[in-house]
Amino acid sequence: MELLNTFADYGHPIDALQLFQGVVDGALPGLLAGCQVMRVAAGETVLDNTCAGARLYILLRGALRACQPDLESGPAEVADVRLMPGECVGELTVLDQQTQAATIHALQDSDLLVIEAGQLWQLIDQSNGVARNLLHLLSFRIRAANAQLRRRHRVGEFYRQLSLADSLTGLQNRAWLEQNLPLLIEQTRAADNPFSLIMLDIDHFKKFNDEHGHQAGDEVLRLAARVLTETLRPRDFAVRYGGEELLVLLPNTHCKGAAGVAHRLCESLRETIFFSDMHKPLPHITASFGVASLVPGQDASALIANADAALYRAKHAGRNQVAQA
Ligand code: GH3
Ligand code: MG
Ligand code: MG
Repeated sequence: MELLNTFADYGHPIDALQLFQGVVDGALPGLLAGCQVMRVAAGETVLDNTCAGARLYILLRGALRACQPDLESGPAEVADVRLMPGECVGELTVLDQQTQAATIHALQDSDLLVIEAGQLWQLIDQSNGVARNLLHLLSFRIRAANAQLRRRHRVGEFYRQLSLADSLTGLQNRAWLEQNLPLLIEQTRAADNPFSLIMLDIDHFKKFNDEHGHQAGDEVLRLAARVLTETLRPRDFAVRYGGEELLVLLPNTHCKGAAGVAHRLCESLRETIFFSDMHKPLPHITASFGVASLVPGQDASALIANADAALYRAKHAGRNQVAQA
């Protein structure tokens, strides 16, 4: 950074500077006259996290860039702001004496008016207009920071949802199940409600893949997931448990109701026509179903094991059917 001039000699209109806009105060030019103007070369750092409480800079000419590291996501993630002539930086560090959070560097050769901490306090003490503008500026900074936090929260929530969904079928995935099944069971117990679970597994899917290709198999899985979601009530959940094994969670449902749902799903799948890439109908697929209902003292894994055992019986009884635990 190179010293250029005093502000008086540099000769810049005061009203063009954000902090002094609309300030009618005859003393202002005199208070600023002795402040220094510095020149920073493109790429040079003006402020970083080693600076605390020293000075405020007002950009007179050129452009600056402020990079705010995102502490949660690591240094690679930064909020990037471009500062234009008339805007100021560093005011927070003067006011609270804390270190600077963002790194500010020059995008082009730039001229900066430097207001030392003591001079800024003097301006605030002597001019209501400067104090008011500073409050304005700080409230703008707070709103911008809040908007950024809200944006980050929305993005975080988006990725959280994404991490709980299966990418092929769009159903909930196993991570979702591990988080939510114990909670659903807890709620069910607290409200003394019934709860049932269906495990289904596509029949002879290996053979289907071998004969029609893995891509046709993927399409079948996608469509089977759609059959499930279209048949279920909004409060039920469909989960991809493993390769071609799906789970249906039925809150507030007794075993008889759950068996009814399983029979309906079994029939819907049997009747669904799947088409290949060439728009040729593929052979019908079927699935086998195991139904289990929550009994006192049972946890999530015991309930799943019961449904799995019932599914095993449905397979052994000839597939394309429903068995109950
Ligand atoms: P069963 O009637 O006893 O269930 O026989 P199966 O052939 O369906 O069962 P097996 O466990 O022998 O084979 C499961 C097959 O599912 C093998 C695997 O390639 C296929 N599979 C698992 N995940 C996917 C997937 O994401 N896409 C496709 N296309 N196939 C999958
Ligand atoms: Mg199978
Ligand atoms: Mg299987």
